[in-house]
Amino acid sequence: MPGERFCRMLAFMPPLGIGVRLYSLMLCFLSAGSGEWFIRRVESCCRSRQGRRVEGVAIKLISIDDARSRVLAEALVLSVETLPLAEVVGRILGEEIVASHSVPPFDNAGMDGFAVRAVDIVDAAGDKPVSLHVLETIPAGRVATHALGLEQATKIMTGAPIPEGADVVVQSEATEERDGRVLIFEAAKRGKNIRRAGEDVEAGGRVLGPGSILGPAEIGLIASLGRPTVQVHRLPRVAILSTGSELVEVDRPLGPGQIHNSNSYSLRALCQQMGIEPTMLGIVPDDYDATKDMVQKGLDYDVLLTTGGVSVGQFDFIKDIQDELGVQRRLWGVAMKPGKPLVFGVHDRTLVFGLPGNPVSAMVSFELFVRPALLHLMGHANTVRPLYRAVMSENASNSDGRVYVVRVRAWREDGTWHVSSTGAQGSGILRSMVGANGLVFIPGGTRGVKAGETVDFLLLREDLQAP
Ligand code: AMP
Ligand code: MG
Repeated sequence: MPGERFCRMLAFMPPLGIGVRLYSLMLCFLSAGSGEWFIRRVESCCRSRQGRRVEGVAIKLISIDDARSRVLAEALVLSVETLPLAEVVGRILGEEIVASHSVPPFDNAGMDGFAVRAVDIVDAAGDKPVSLHVLETIPAGRVATHALGLEQATKIMTGAPIPEGADVVVQSEATEERDGRVLIFEAAKRGKNIRRAGEDVEAGGRVLGPGSILGPAEIGLIASLGRPTVQVHRLPRVAILSTGSELVEVDRPLGPGQIHNSNSYSLRALCQQMGIEPTMLGIVPDDYDATKDMVQKGLDYDVLLTTGGVSVGQFDFIKDIQDELGVQRRLWGVAMKPGKPLVFGVHDRTLVFGLPGNPVSAMVSFELFVRPALLHLMGHANTVRPLYRAVMSENASNSDGRVYVVRVRAWREDGTWHVSSTGAQGSGILRSMVGANGLVFIPGGTRGVKAGETVDFLLLREDLQAP
């Protein structure tokens, strides 16, 4: 590794004074043994395409938690919009919902049966039924035309308003209707099988507050109040750009040295799973000016996701371009693998993510940093999936100082989570992301974990739990 980087560095050396060159070379060699620090130092020795110096100090990789905090610190909750109830599932409420009327609005039958007066049936029993005169039948949606008098009953369906004078509903199973009369075979306490007005929601009461996640139940409750629209935080406008001269679209045949653009599709799908339909800016080749134009376009969005071009290759322009366009860098380099070269900054209120190009790195970075940011913009209070402890099924070594993020299949057995690697873990091996429902975090500097030891893991999906 040092040899290759050293050559690249030499290629980039401008015709400066020999002293500066020697100093730079010395720094590079001095730091050659110290892993991550070395890479940064080499970059400090290089010059960008514009001839400016790239950052001149060694940058330490930061922890996953630190990186996420820096990202979230820049994510401001988006404004609200008014939408029809049919379009708000998964959205975050941006207003307080106060009940304009009670739910249910009137006392009503909780069972099909007969509305009667409890005093009339106190002596009713299986072998000693009480006979009452049936006044009328009221289905749900109709109102009784008669108030109930002594020894009278009204046949009533679930949801129909309780007639005046009645104070209990006897369910049909305990009755027998015959010749305009009904036999009641059991006594019942006042109020039995009656759903009181306002027992669900009291008129004037606060039903839901800002920040509530609108799931099916919340949406149903708002509908029960007769609200056709609701204010929710708007969704982030996300743009996705894939960089790389080797990339071709999926509907094109591959030429020599080319691969299909998969990142745009996996990232788009990750956004879609969150209810966000991103704008696809397509592919841009590793040409500085063309890439800069596209990144500039992406700055019109709430969030820009680029993939590729964030490492230390000769054609990795993204950081320089971000700098030139005035993106304020908040981080570059996370102590994890895959996903190390993530670069993140802000431009006005646009969150600008330079995700690594390797397909797994891009997805893992999305999961750990982009997803929480998007959730925050959408108004979610909880943006990070919970970590669980799980028993590792096999040895997983980690000789690196970085956290090793392993794609795993996780399942529950005897009340305990178990995890097992889904296969080869190279950052370009998307196959082991397929079938993974979790990510395990093996801390750096630990030499890894042995089978049977417990590890932290994050559950990515609920639908793949079998071993
Ligand atoms: P880079 O970060 O640009 O050096 O890319 C790292 C690796 O990821 C290279 O092997 C690229 O070919 C690959 N790669 C970059 N972008 C994409 C993409 N959109 N789809 C699939 N692979 C990609
Ligand atoms: Mg590239």
